[in-house]
Amino acid sequence: MAAGGSTVFGKGAYVLVIALREPVVLPLGGIVHQLSAGHYLYAGSAHGPGGIDARVRRHFRREKSLHWHVDRLTTVAASIHAFAIEGGSECEIVTRLSGRSGARHPIPGFGSSDCRTCVSHLLRATGERMTSHICEPADGDHV
Ligand SMILES: [Zn+2]
Repeated sequence: MAAGGSTVFGKGAYVLVIALREPVVLPLGGIVHQLSAGHYLYAGSAHGPGGIDARVRRHFRREKSLHWHVDRLTTVAASIHAFAIEGGSECEIVTRLSGRSGARHPIPGFGSSDCRTCVSHLLRATGERMTSHICEPADGDHV
């Protein structure tokens, strides 16, 4: 999302492209996971007040209490990019991205505690090809 941009997105889903320069150690569900450096895709949804805009702004903030799993990544990320999909569903995004070659779920259950269909809402992008793909869907606004 461009800084200072005037576009305001409503409610729906979004994708964060999170770049990690260093490996991140992440305890989750009694298991200590390690994410290697690279690019990760996280799908989330925002249906509360402020919609996608407010949620994504929070993700971009470094200083915050760690509430969601993804906060562990956004607070240490080298860079974060966001794509808003108004009216979209996070699980639909995960399903779509999972179908792309090279994507995998590094931590089962990550970000998907309330979800019964996805392995997780975090995908590791192994190729540059994948991050370019998510700009393409006609229903996705490139922020
Ligand atoms: Zn899901």
